[in-house]
Amino acid sequence: MKQPPANRPRPAFPARLPSGPAPQPARKPLAATPAPQAVLPQGLGMDSAAVRAAMVRKLQAQGLAHPMVVAAMLAVERHRFVDSALVNQAYEDTSLPIGLGQTISKPSVVARMIELLLHGRHDKLGRVLEIGTGCGYQAAVLSQVAREVYSIERLKGLHDKARDNLRHFRVPNLHLLFGDGMVGFARGAPYAAIIAAAGGEDIPAAWVDQLAVGGRLVAPAVTAQGRQNLVVVDKTPTGVVRTELEAVHFVPLKSGIA
Ligand code: SAH
Repeated sequence: MKQPPANRPRPAFPARLPSGPAPQPARKPLAATPAPQAVLPQGLGMDSAAVRAAMVRKLQAQGLAHPMVVAAMLAVERHRFVDSALVNQAYEDTSLPIGLGQTISKPSVVARMIELLLHGRHDKLGRVLEIGTGCGYQAAVLSQVAREVYSIERLKGLHDKARDNLRHFRVPNLHLLFGDGMVGFARGAPYAAIIAAAGGEDIPAAWVDQLAVGGRLVAPAVTAQGRQNLVVVDKTPTGVVRTELEAVHFVPLKSGIA
């Protein structure tokens, strides 16, 4: 097993931006956040908790209602999943680059998809499969609302990055897998819920096969109109019901590993 780099520094929050020209000119820093006097000691959670609570309040104003999702979004420190140069944008409702051409999903989309997975139920989901671990943020949020989470990533660099990011948290119910999620993960099936963070032409049949009866799948997919929309698939005792929801912008679902 790959050893983590010794004492890899974690971004403190809020981070002090490097002086000189900012590498990301397009994004504004957190509104009304005064420039920090000094880099905060590592692991100091208080400041990030307040900014995260503000983010969650905004999500609630936009419609987030499920108490388990609210609690999970409050609990998971998103700033620990982005590069230190982007820490001050970690609680904006935006996707951010995580390397290898991929992005961490927008908090509102993470919350929306998990709320759809919970489907109005107020007990934890059983086993959940996530396709597209990326930096591991959504996997960490899922681990708060499910008894067990399997998360697959096809890019070794990101699989390793997620492992490093998650080392900080103790998440014994989250299993990170390196592989092609197009084929799902049959060994963990059947799943109470399946969620994909990358969008393909359609929903792979393997995912629907690996969904439990009574289970729900939420994924981006291209619709008949040629747009990428969120798609919900419910597996009922009498068959599969597919519902198309709002337009979304996810990175492409690709086959094979790299
Ligand atoms: N949930 C992630 C979002 C990552 S972006 C987060 O919170 O950061 C989507 C990820 O899906 C990318 O890392 C991409 O490499 C991955 N992906 C795309 N196709 C895949 C496949 N077939 N199997 C597994 N992962 C895949």
